[in-house]
Amino acid sequence: MPSMTGDPVETIIDQPRWHTLPVPDVEDWLRTSRHGLSIDEAAARLEHFGPNEIEEEPPPTAIAVFARQFKSPLIAILVVAAVVTALLDEWIDTWVITAVLLLNAIIGFAQERRAEESVRALQSLAAPQARVIRNGHERHIEGRDLVPGDLVLLESGARVPADLRLTHVNALRIDESLLTGESLPVTKQAEPLDDEDTPLADRKPMVYAGSVVTSGRGRGYVTATGATSQLGAIANLMRGEASPDSPLQVRMARLAHLIGIIVVGAAVVSFLIGVLADQEPSDMFRFAVALAVSAIPEGLPVVLTITLAVGVRRMAQRRALVRRLAAVETLGSTTVIGSDKTGTLTENRMTVQTIWAGTDWWTIDGSPASTSLMADTGPLRRVLLVGVLANEAELYIEDGTEHTAGDPTEAALLVAAARCGLEPILARDRYETIAEIPFESERGYSATIGTFEGKTAMFVKGAPERIVGMSSRMLGPDGVEDIDPEAVLAAADRMASDGLRVLAMADMEVEDPDPSRVETLIGTGGLTLLGLQGMLDPPRAGVAEAVEGCRHSGIRPLMITGDHAATALAIAERLGIADHGSEALTGGDIDELSDADLAEAVTRVSVFARMTPEHKLRIVQTLRGLGEVVAVTGDGVNDAPSLRAADIGIAMGRDGTDVAREASDMVLIDDNFASIYAAVHEGRVTFDNVRKVTFFLLSTGAAEIVALTSGLLLGWPLILLPTQILWLNLVTNGVQDVAMAFEPAEPGILDRPPRPVKEGVISRLLWKRTLIVGIVMALGTLAMFRWEYDSSGSVEAARTAALTTMVLFQAFHIGNVRSERISAFRTPVFSNRFLIVAVIVALGIHAIALYLPFTQFILTVEPIGIDAWLRSIAVASTVIVAGEIHKAWERRRGAKA
Ligand code: ADP
Ligand code: MG
Repeated sequence: MPSMTGDPVETIIDQPRWHTLPVPDVEDWLRTSRHGLSIDEAAARLEHFGPNEIEEEPPPTAIAVFARQFKSPLIAILVVAAVVTALLDEWIDTWVITAVLLLNAIIGFAQERRAEESVRALQSLAAPQARVIRNGHERHIEGRDLVPGDLVLLESGARVPADLRLTHVNALRIDESLLTGESLPVTKQAEPLDDEDTPLADRKPMVYAGSVVTSGRGRGYVTATGATSQLGAIANLMRGEASPDSPLQVRMARLAHLIGIIVVGAAVVSFLIGVLADQEPSDMFRFAVALAVSAIPEGLPVVLTITLAVGVRRMAQRRALVRRLAAVETLGSTTVIGSDKTGTLTENRMTVQTIWAGTDWWTIDGSPASTSLMADTGPLRRVLLVGVLANEAELYIEDGTEHTAGDPTEAALLVAAARCGLEPILARDRYETIAEIPFESERGYSATIGTFEGKTAMFVKGAPERIVGMSSRMLGPDGVEDIDPEAVLAAADRMASDGLRVLAMADMEVEDPDPSRVETLIGTGGLTLLGLQGMLDPPRAGVAEAVEGCRHSGIRPLMITGDHAATALAIAERLGIADHGSEALTGGDIDELSDADLAEAVTRVSVFARMTPEHKLRIVQTLRGLGEVVAVTGDGVNDAPSLRAADIGIAMGRDGTDVAREASDMVLIDDNFASIYAAVHEGRVTFDNVRKVTFFLLSTGAAEIVALTSGLLLGWPLILLPTQILWLNLVTNGVQDVAMAFEPAEPGILDRPPRPVKEGVISRLLWKRTLIVGIVMALGTLAMFRWEYDSSGSVEAARTAALTTMVLFQAFHIGNVRSERISAFRTPVFSNRFLIVAVIVALGIHAIALYLPFTQFILTVEPIGIDAWLRSIAVASTVIVAGEIHKAWERRRGAKA
């Protein structure tokens, strides 16, 4: 173990020539070793060097965020109105509009700040991880805890977490495009270079933070972290990648734009008509401003952002991290979820249950071995030995307990060997590796060449079909014989149909152990197949329920796996993804299918086995071509295209690769299928809430327009003043619509089929309802105005009555908005505490405003008596009646259809 004695720590990084140093010198410089740093030493270095992170882009300044609040075209109209009212000497209007503008900007500012903060907090949950050797064993740590001298393990799909001087490579290829612009992967080496001045792009013994492992394995010492890494040096160049708005936000912005244009047009036209009809121009101007103000949904952009942010937070609580806002709304429309098997539907906790060796069957019950197999030479031992030697995982004893590290499939093979009395640690110590081919899904096997007990041999393990294809002989009851492929595949099938994951083991003596020839050697087909190991990977708790739930909600769950068809089917049947006796399509089958035949097949088949990433991509594209909204999971380095092609690409937070995570829209914290289903649920709720808020704002806006224009046509004085309308739209409405973002799920939200993506935010039904309630609210307001005007003769009193009625209408209308189809009286009142508080606050501030001299002056209102309140309440309650009738009508129509 390296120690702290000797040179002070700070000299460690003072070495610009890492690529020219032999590994022992590198270890000296970094005062580390192939056992890695000790835990204490790593902690001391972290203290000294600081965390391995590059300072993020500073958040936009407060002023910039504040200024951004004025960018909306709707706000621009208000600014114009403020200026024009000032020119006309209508100073109260000017001040009120200005105050509203400021208030709006302050609220928007605060909300945006909060949303940004929570997004940041969420993203840090998905922070990069690193595999290191410390205290001699592999561990997973946070990437930010890496220090110079740490020994880091790299595998395909990983993003390099710090600058490393490589000590071992195994066909390691790195994509360094981020740093060098070179798009082709570079093959790396561990041997030092001679030339000190080699440019960065050619420093083969080095890998740099931010590049990506496209294939192979490697390990190396950290030479620089954080800001001192090469990436740190150029990080400034890469900043400023703004996160794009979600399509919903874009559509809403367009809608707002459109409304703005129409409103201004309408206001101008009515102004002209009024003036031509000999109305007082200044009155007409006031009317036009009032009309514009009432129709513009000033609060919409802000509540939309809040509603989406609430959705993101709820999804995070259910262990799904949304990386793109767009995913929040698309999730609710998901019609197909294509899921990996291993780790997502199952635990990814493998245990070998059955071994087929020399055509004999063995069962492993998990109890510790009673006898040692070390001196044995029988078939069982040979099968287990391949599992131990062609293996990258690690088994070790620490603090008296057994630990494993690495791929669970490989770890299971080590544990199985230990259970049978073949000591994996001992066996490995006696093994001298010459060359290795690590497992990659695309290849389907892994191999190693080396010397064991005096003999040089190659050991290969992998998918049975692959290994059978590479073997000419097999181990039978009486020793080695010619291979009987049917017998082997039948044995594999037998294990697979029990749901076991099957690996075949083979070996071959090698005369000329040339490391560069491993693949060629395998290609000769001279392997001897020794046997099979079958491992159990139990389905995850809660997945069967989630699958059931998906079906119930009109979502089709599919399994897309690299595993054997029989294994996949067995698990799929257990989880309810496939019915008993249904078929699976394999990658081979799919290659034979035309696009049209595949399109037919994907509607029928739910289990896809032996899939490569290319097959997965083709399935995703085919499904999308059929109009499905596809969510798909992926974890490998080559899954990125499928994740991008899908409507929702889902990556694994625990076991997935960095590359997959970066290509995804959503990351599952616990890799669990059930979390996808939960996120879909939240997606539906969020979309519902967006719809409710929009409907609420549009219908109250519509009521104002109808009331104003009717009043004008009837030749009455202006029913509501612009300031009063702003009060309605921003203060009383504003409190309530924000609270609507927190609405819980409506009952039955999961019993509906997915919402068609093409259906807009406001459905036909809601347009109709907007019209109905808009007219009811307008009529009620007009009636109250008239009544008060006739009885008191004061236009101020009449306007106060109209305004108060409108405020009450809004409060009652909340009851209509909370569910599209379910009666307000059957929606639980207390399920959204925010909303209750909001309604009380809205009514409270309105009441206060009526009785305070200052607000009376600003709003031009007069105090009203209890009888006026009661009249307004009675009138306002009619909107609930109208809403209920429309709901009942629609329910009856729905029942008939
Ligand atoms: P999935 O992740 O969808 O289960 P994989 O591509 O990991 O699929 O595995 C496909 C097949 O490759 C397995 O059925 C098994 O036979 C084989 N296999 C899996 N892991 C390993 C490994 N570490 N070494 C050798 N073969 C493996
Ligand atoms: Mg796998």
